[in-house]
Amino acid sequence: MDVVFDELHRRVKSYLATVKNVAAGGGDEAALVIARDDLPLIVDAFDALFGGHIPDDNGHCRQCHRAGRWWRRRRVPCRVFLQAQIALFHPTSHGRHALTRAEL
Ligand SMILES: [Zn+2]
Repeated sequence: MDVVFDELHRRVKSYLATVKNVAAGGGDEAALVIARDDLPLIVDAFDALFGGHIPDDNGHCRQCHRAGRWWRRRRVPCRVFLQAQIALFHPTSHGRHALTRAEL
């Protein structure tokens, strides 16, 4: 892989792992800092990645539409949309989502 990409990828993975570890196992004070300082950044990043995957007038994903030829255009929900839904609402490593549990 590209050296620059490797470093950027490593930094993102390390940052997310740190946030996840602190949120899951850190003290209350550290978890609160993560929630207030880092969570909004992560939500913004997620929205920047996910927000463009909306249907055009023909029901094709606007973002995935750009990546492929017309006969391979993805209808919504596209793969990215579905992966985001699974990651948020059906995570495999945490059991049920915290907000879903809170609704019970
Ligand atoms: Zn898409």
